[in-house]
Amino acid sequence: MTTVASWPFAPESTFVDQLDGLYVPWNADAAPDPTLIFLNAPLAEELGFDAADLRSDAGVAMLSGNAVPDGTTPVAQAYAGHQFGGYSPRLGDGRALLLGEVVDAHGRRRDLHMKGSGRTPFSRGGDGKAAVGPMLREVIIGEAMYGLGIPTTRALAVVATGEPVARDEILPGAILTRVAASHLRVGTFQFAAATGDRGLLQRLLDHAIARHHPEAAEAANPALGLLDAVVGVQASLIAQWMLVGFVHGVMNTDNTTISGETIDYGPCAFIDAYDPDAVFSSIDHGGRYAYGNQPAIMMWNLARLAETLLPLIDEDSEAAVAAATEVLNSFPERLAAVHEPGMRAKLGLDPAAEEPGDAELAADLLALMHRHRVDHTSAFRALSDAARGQDGRFRQSFAADSEAALDIDAWLSRWVARIGDDRTAVAAAMDAVNPVYIARNHLVEEALAAVYQNDLGPFEQLLEVLAAPYAERAGLERYAEPAPSEFGETFQTFCGT
Ligand code: AMP
Ligand code: MG
Repeated sequence: MTTVASWPFAPESTFVDQLDGLYVPWNADAAPDPTLIFLNAPLAEELGFDAADLRSDAGVAMLSGNAVPDGTTPVAQAYAGHQFGGYSPRLGDGRALLLGEVVDAHGRRRDLHMKGSGRTPFSRGGDGKAAVGPMLREVIIGEAMYGLGIPTTRALAVVATGEPVARDEILPGAILTRVAASHLRVGTFQFAAATGDRGLLQRLLDHAIARHHPEAAEAANPALGLLDAVVGVQASLIAQWMLVGFVHGVMNTDNTTISGETIDYGPCAFIDAYDPDAVFSSIDHGGRYAYGNQPAIMMWNLARLAETLLPLIDEDSEAAVAAATEVLNSFPERLAAVHEPGMRAKLGLDPAAEEPGDAELAADLLALMHRHRVDHTSAFRALSDAARGQDGRFRQSFAADSEAALDIDAWLSRWVARIGDDRTAVAAAMDAVNPVYIARNHLVEEALAAVYQNDLGPFEQLLEVLAAPYAERAGLERYAEPAPSEFGETFQTFCGT
């Protein structure tokens, strides 16, 4: 086996060193016949790895869990969580391990985490495994989000283990190595708070502040400062999801990060037709995590974080609740402070200068898109053509009925009056914020189906397209097109795969 002189792991894992009580040291299962099927070379480089080392036998051994890199202590992290509103006191890494931490080229400390690494003390009834398709799906959606500029965990590598895993059918097993600012979740705080060990909760608070929100250390009340910071990053994150039509699908508190990164790409999807009620997850029967519910759900999740912090906010519980409530109540306003300028930018209006009527202009367009079931991404993109004086594409994205045509005429004339005369500059600015290419469900499914036929080509091509989502390129027209309508009506995604 090839050896590698050293891997660029940080000499210490701050999580392991500081947070005894929140993990169990654990090793991955052996992978019988590992094959590297995806390596994120630019990310590897950013982390200080040599991509060639990762492709070597020693690299693949590490990425498959067959070899533990020098100086690392893999651990299964403990966390709790509200899943669809119901509390589970003990979730934790049931099929994943934290491998260690790396300080990247920008000085940022990042977790390396393996998903699909086998059973752990947190596995409950699960097999601890992951299949190739869902792990490559996580690669695609994570890279799509990264390309869009939205905070996200990213995939460093996927290794096919050579072991079959039993789902509805037998599928090839895989391990995904994920890179995250950290894996601290609202559920981590819930777990720590539920132990009743005040010292542990305090250590977790200190660790989270140092790692993600150092400004909170300077606050008069650091626990409240952390809550305030997490409310801020999550408000911004959800606003960004809404602007691109992203539906996370499983916004449980264990899938809500303290860092503000999007995490856990399971049943997530981008909407085609604009619809606040859009739900893709096969198990989200009540629509709890529907597209339009995401802001309210995040506020609910942050309230669960606030509850865990109350004893550290104030000894007097009434005072603690009052202070935490005030911070939580800033969430809608802070979301709007990102969403409204973002929406103005999508419309070609100055994000920094709101004028009376702008909010209505945006809301009216969304209402029209909803009523006529218009493809969200292509309609916004086509609007920049309209700014250039060619409104054909925009009109075509609406149904060709006369009612829609009248609605669009009325809306377009208001919009044209508002965007001013420098149309070329307006259109260019719109193109910089309205993606041409998103990870459309039918394209993702097509790429994954090909992978199961041993053809990685469509997967790799899709990643290439999604790496530059704002730059329209000749020859990629099919990646910009909405799904065939039959597809959109029936598409479902699955959790726990
Ligand atoms: P997720 O829906 O991926 O956020 O997972 C929720 C919880 O279920 C976490 O505690 C996971 O570790 C656990 N889990 C999901 N899939 C499996 C599996 N195949 N085996 C064991 N645990 C799992
Ligand atoms: Mg999860």
